[in-house]
Amino acid sequence: MVKLTIDGKIIEVAEGTTVLDAAKMLNIEIPTLCHHPKLTPFGGCRLCIVEVKGVPRPLTSCTTPVAEGMEVTTSTPALEDLRRTMLELILSDHPNDCMVCEKAGDCTLQELAYFYGIRENRFGGERRIYEKRDGNPFIERDMDKCILCGRCVKVCDEIQGVGAIDFAYRGFKSKICPTFERDLDCEFCGQCVAVCPTGALTGKMWQLRGRQKDIKEIDTTCSYCGTGCNLTLHVRQNEVVRVTSKEDTWNEGWLCAKGRFGYSFINSPDRLKKPLIKRNGEFEEALWDEALDYISAKLKEIKERHGADSIAGLSSARCTTEENYLFQKFMRAAVGTNNVDHCARL
Ligand code: SF4
Ligand code: SF4
Ligand code: SF4
Repeated sequence: MVKLTIDGKIIEVAEGTTVLDAAKMLNIEIPTLCHHPKLTPFGGCRLCIVEVKGVPRPLTSCTTPVAEGMEVTTSTPALEDLRRTMLELILSDHPNDCMVCEKAGDCTLQELAYFYGIRENRFGGERRIYEKRDGNPFIERDMDKCILCGRCVKVCDEIQGVGAIDFAYRGFKSKICPTFERDLDCEFCGQCVAVCPTGALTGKMWQLRGRQKDIKEIDTTCSYCGTGCNLTLHVRQNEVVRVTSKEDTWNEGWLCAKGRFGYSFINSPDRLKKPLIKRNGEFEEALWDEALDYISAKLKEIKERHGADSIAGLSSARCTTEENYLFQKFMRAAVGTNNVDHCARL
């Protein structure tokens, strides 16, 4: 264990812990943009700088491991001034169109600009303006708003293991893009969207569907497969407008394309909400009791005429484990056949 002092508070942490994480354990907040707790440190945004006694210049706390007897100060007028300058530099070629940006109200960059009271910018000059031309079906890539924090590149490589995007070019021309600047063609897990601290990456389906402040968040479980990832449905006026997942869930906030983007069926007007019975060649809405009595009578009739093994039951990966258990029990114990299968084997 290593003992150090942060802002006058003594703490003992495991060797290898970063100063940023040690400060977090003491509930000391240090601003960051490029840091993400699930990704390897980058030290790119320089906002997490701290002063360490005996070291002549500030150090980035996300990349500095703790050392025995270290004395760290996280906030001084000089550090705050440097942070404000860094933010001004980051914002110097930013579009600042918070009024129409999907991320407004949920944007780390906007939040920090507010906290540091940045209105005017001393560093006006050339701007990076990119055409929004990515034809992929899910992810809106508004690279004018990219601050090159690298979170999307890291998550795609370190978590998803895909490596669909990377930094290209150098200096002011640096940008994040797929190989040869082609349209994004990847797994569309949306992990990059989830970690982007600005409005550079958002969901195409979310556009103009509601500000975060008007959204009611409802935690639920994904029904697409037996993995059962935790989802948060963002509901506005009784319509699901976005899906996210929280970092403190067992799936750590990571989802697949189906869980994150495959939710339009929930709002579909074509969705079946009542059972249908075919009469005279036409489907007609029925009551549940009526439909269940009909199924029961038909199953009995088939069983009597052709035997239980003439009946088969096909269950679904969309059901819960308990529902699938009940279904096979019903087929075996009530119908009397082992002809049970599951859509996941198709
Ligand atoms: S990314 Fe953030 S700071 Fe930039 S325009 Fe959108 S809300 Fe505003
Ligand atoms: S959607 Fe997933 S696979 Fe595609 S770029 Fe983003 S993180 Fe990588
Ligand atoms: S797209 Fe978002 S996550 Fe990726 S580098 Fe730019 S700001 Fe960071």
